[in-house]
Amino acid sequence: MDYISTRGSAPTLDFEGATLAGLASDGGLYLPHEWPRLSLDEIRDLRGLSYAALAARIMRPFVAGSLTDDELEALCDKVYGDFGHAAVTPLVQLNETHWLLELFHGPTLAFKDVALQMLGHLFETFLERRDERLTIVGATSGDTGSAAINAVAGLDRVEIFMLHPHDRVSEVQRRQMTTVRAPNVHNLAIDGSFDDAQRHVKAMFADESVTKTLRVGAVNSINWARLMAQVVYYFYSALQLGGPDRKVAYSVPTGNFGDVFAGYVAAQMGLPIERLIVATNVNDILHRALSDGDYSAGGVTATITPSMDIQVSSNFERLLFDVGGRDGAAMTEQMRGFDAEKAMKLTNSQRGGASALFSSARADQDETTRAMQWAYRNAAQVIDPHTGVGLHAALAADMAAHVPIVTLATAHPAKFRDAVERAVGVRPSLPQRVGDLFGREEAFVELPGDYDAARDFVLETAIPSAA
Ligand SMILES: *Cc1c(COP(=O)(O)O)cnc(C)c1O
Repeated sequence: MDYISTRGSAPTLDFEGATLAGLASDGGLYLPHEWPRLSLDEIRDLRGLSYAALAARIMRPFVAGSLTDDELEALCDKVYGDFGHAAVTPLVQLNETHWLLELFHGPTLAFKDVALQMLGHLFETFLERRDERLTIVGATSGDTGSAAINAVAGLDRVEIFMLHPHDRVSEVQRRQMTTVRAPNVHNLAIDGSFDDAQRHVKAMFADESVTKTLRVGAVNSINWARLMAQVVYYFYSALQLGGPDRKVAYSVPTGNFGDVFAGYVAAQMGLPIERLIVATNVNDILHRALSDGDYSAGGVTATITPSMDIQVSSNFERLLFDVGGRDGAAMTEQMRGFDAEKAMKLTNSQRGGASALFSSARADQDETTRAMQWAYRNAAQVIDPHTGVGLHAALAADMAAHVPIVTLATAHPAKFRDAVERAVGVRPSLPQRVGDLFGREEAFVELPGDYDAARDFVLETAIPSAA
């Protein structure tokens, strides 16, 4: 499969190249040059497959030319054999209409594990083949950092340096990073804010003293391979609810637009989807964009759903490109305008294309809390606040009665247990398999807040890449 950039001028790459590149060199995002299609009969034939077998079948066209079927199947078996639930992403029924799709059975209890575990193994496979090494440098305020660390811990050719603001992440989040003891994992607690950490990381990517000895890579959600891995659970859940002969709707707690874009990809591949509901918290740039075409960034408000506190949704560009006629030059122009103004209007074709499948809703803290209480009282389900935002949107949706609505449960409630306890009066405990998190020994280096301290530590510690 060939991959093209949304900005139209970066070189076309194969799957291996796009996975290792992350961001395209023209600043755009990679997408397959065309959507692979499955007929309804081919989709019916997928019923009853295990998660790992289905994953290999769905990913097959996207990795063609870069992985053989055998290699892909072995990877899927390895990655998805290791989750905390045999179904990997089990469905839970709330009432006749509403369902939860639990995506939090991976090692760090958030949906990001489903894709990042795959990405770690893809990196290792491709680097081995090229006899190269990769040094991942990232900044985190919590969630992505722990999922990324857990995804690459113990790999031979990938090393990770994760910067977090010292004493400014929750204890669970910190421990999920610092108790992973592997020689290729380095936690850097810097004396500064998340923004300082983020700035240091960006500076390292542009610093020749770093890039001349290290091939630096990123793990943010713009990597195509992450989205590809997320397409699988849309098929998996729809097949269980009567698909492809019955349409299913999804409500997706959304931040960077990665998870819900994977639903769009499933639809392009031929899966009948009634609607994708983009659920946001009060940081509602996407809700405004989808409801009146106004994509304008404001300040970020801190909420009880921190993983959705975003100003700009990087993956939204992929949708705008695809529904807007795949015009790289026009996209470049539009995004240049956005970078300058922090605001842009969607074109008519973008609005029309998006509204065919997407709708949106926004939940403030009271609405989120009420949705969490609804799940607890009506279905005895303790859900996390991010899932609460999604469920609020699902309950408010105007949908024909026979359409099942699946809310994506993006985090385990124990990850956000203070907010959960305040909402429903129950303090969820950590699942058994991570239950000794508070007993394990931590390892991290404390560094002063300046850039040189972080860079020098990376330079002195990292194993140089062969390239
Ligand atoms: C990352 C995250 C989200 C947002 O997902 P996107 O793909 O960025 O839209 C929602 N909920 C949780 C718990 C997350 O960690």
